[in-house]
Amino acid sequence: MVEPPTFYPEGALVGVLTTQPLDRPLDYKAPEGGCFLGAFVEVPLGPRRVLGVVWGPGRGDFDLAKVRPVTRVLDAAPMREEMRVFLRRAADYTLTPMPAMLRLATRAPGLGDSPSMRKVYRLGDRAPDRLTEARTRVLEVLRDYGGLAFTLSELAEMAGVTSSVVKGLVKLGAVAEEDSPRDMPFPLLDPELPGKALTEDQAAAAEVLRAGLRAGGYGTTLLKGVTGSGKTEVYLEAVAEALRVGRQALVLLPEIALTAEFTKRVEARFGARAAEWHSGVTMTERRRTWRMVGEGAAQLVVGARSALFLPFRDLGLIVVDEEHDTSYKQEDGVLYNARDMAVLRASILGAQVVLASATPSLETWANAEAGKYRRLELTSRFGEAVLPAMTAIDMRAEQLEAGRWVSPTLRRAVQARLEKGEQALLFINRRGYAPVTLCRACGQQIGCDHCDARMVEHRFLKRLMCHQCGETKPMPTVCPSCGVEGRLAPVGPGVERLAEEAAAVFPEARVAVLSSDLFGSARALKARIEEIAAGGADIVIGTQLVAKGHNFPLLTLVGVIDADLGLQGSDLRAAERTFQLMRQVSGRAGRADRAGEAMLQTHQPEHPVIRAILGGDEEAFWRAEAREREQAGVPPYGRMAGIILSGTDVAQVFDLGNALARADGPLRQIGARVFGPAPAPIARVRGRHRVRLLVKAAKGSPLQDALARWIASFRLKGDLRLAVDIDPQTF
Ligand code: ADP
Ligand code: ZN
Repeated sequence: MVEPPTFYPEGALVGVLTTQPLDRPLDYKAPEGGCFLGAFVEVPLGPRRVLGVVWGPGRGDFDLAKVRPVTRVLDAAPMREEMRVFLRRAADYTLTPMPAMLRLATRAPGLGDSPSMRKVYRLGDRAPDRLTEARTRVLEVLRDYGGLAFTLSELAEMAGVTSSVVKGLVKLGAVAEEDSPRDMPFPLLDPELPGKALTEDQAAAAEVLRAGLRAGGYGTTLLKGVTGSGKTEVYLEAVAEALRVGRQALVLLPEIALTAEFTKRVEARFGARAAEWHSGVTMTERRRTWRMVGEGAAQLVVGARSALFLPFRDLGLIVVDEEHDTSYKQEDGVLYNARDMAVLRASILGAQVVLASATPSLETWANAEAGKYRRLELTSRFGEAVLPAMTAIDMRAEQLEAGRWVSPTLRRAVQARLEKGEQALLFINRRGYAPVTLCRACGQQIGCDHCDARMVEHRFLKRLMCHQCGETKPMPTVCPSCGVEGRLAPVGPGVERLAEEAAAVFPEARVAVLSSDLFGSARALKARIEEIAAGGADIVIGTQLVAKGHNFPLLTLVGVIDADLGLQGSDLRAAERTFQLMRQVSGRAGRADRAGEAMLQTHQPEHPVIRAILGGDEEAFWRAEAREREQAGVPPYGRMAGIILSGTDVAQVFDLGNALARADGPLRQIGARVFGPAPAPIARVRGRHRVRLLVKAAKGSPLQDALARWIASFRLKGDLRLAVDIDPQTF
């Protein structure tokens, strides 16, 4: 039974939580006409008006005569109780102040503006024969977005033209102008359209997921299967079932560039597109999606981690694809892991979660082992495709010229593929030309002025770039340290340098470089990926970007240039990450009906991680990893938090760190220990020094509670900042 929503009549005292940094809801009077609990409102705060949500009854501890009324109630469905509980619990878990949490849930431009008619522009049916460059750009934007309509200002901005250019095209009939309500409804998805005929494995897995949705209630399932085994096909059937039972579904992808392919598959399966939510979506589209999701009119949303905070009317299914991907961890602002938040929200909602991966995170693997998550496994690739044969190339035995990274063995393998008209991928997880620029006169490396990082040469751009803060500067000809000219030299390979080598070694081949920084927009990248998939290149040189789920049917060989790269460093997760990344990259080969092969260049073929990657006894690998973590008492077998302190004065930051470490009473009460302070994994960013304390506690201990009490006793002076990172990625 559903409780009737709480209503506050005009003049009643209500507590409104705002997005302003205040530690609790403030009292206001309900406006004329009253308001519901959860209503989005605008309230006066000092001289300003701010956005807020009616959070409950007022406290009444403020002079009643001075309590001001709510300015207006916004035209948006009130926030549901489930969402308020979710925000509260997420705030408690991540130790985030509520206003910051609320901001995540109100990230819709023009929230609450009432729908009204306005003019929109889409592709017209006449194609004029002579066009100026500006006009051509307008038409290109409209074609790229296939059928979508834009407002005048959006269209002009996206095409980089003035609005008169658009108007001119309207006169010619090349662009159509129409009236539209502010929110255009989304086309309906039809779960009854025939899906693909599933294999026995797939059908069995799909049925388990469907049954979960029919039963209702919370449940999390790990859907494990090698790349190409049909995980997407299977979870699309879970989406179909969610739609059948009248609930909404959310699919999270780790990378915007993957949305395009996924959207196509949704369209093929359900006859219409899903709503999209990520940074590449226009403001108008976002506003529309936010509202439609609240009305239940957007049945399926595909998006980035922030889509978790959309006001779904009745969310029944959350899929987290490539659940192990590190991009699910938000590392700026509110520090949360979208995978964990998905499970939290679903448990509150009574929804199903599907965590899909070929190489699950150790956390998820352990939860499945412990029986907290259901586990479904697809063991073979779809169709004829078999997993690539994986071999190591022992670099100690290869003869390599200086400045070359493709071993003779790998070179012969690539040559053989090229002769058959197939594609080869050379993988190196380093953007730019060379990771280090060294002065041969003074021996100094060029570093970033603001960060504790090297500047990386990007030869295509003719600039040096800091991968930490994004700062770039022209490539110098004289050394910034010693002033000697002409002695700067690149050291080590990046994708661009590898591309140069490939072009020299295989002069006949068409070489394509896929690296996120080489594309101005998600659209350009998507176009390039499609071109390559269609055979528009012979050799693909790529960074981590290519590892993520793209389909290259002609690709039959993957050469990993430096399989040891991720194994260096003291990070306890290094082994897990390398295993995941190598497995995933290798999975790019031989997806269709051609046998694939993966070759790993390594200096330590006997390393346990390399052996696990090659040998394929995954369970043994995970069990060994689990044992190590258990012994170290780290997640998921213990609890951990990072306290990141930052400021411009390094001594002050360390002083604060030492003071915190000394005042560890609240932590000792729960048996937790504090380590540090030590320089954070990224020790300096944008001129701010970062220092980290690590707190370790036993599994099941009330860590957040103790942390909150510990931190509360400190006042931050000057520009010092403190951020809590629960379950840090590196430890
Ligand atoms: P994964 O998500 O595990 O990487 P996909 O679902 O993307 O796997 O499947 C890999 C490829 O095989 C896709 O092109 C998909 O359409 C195809 N495929 C998988 N299962 C089937 C099936 N039962 N019938 C037809 N095609 C399938
Ligand atoms: Zn920098």
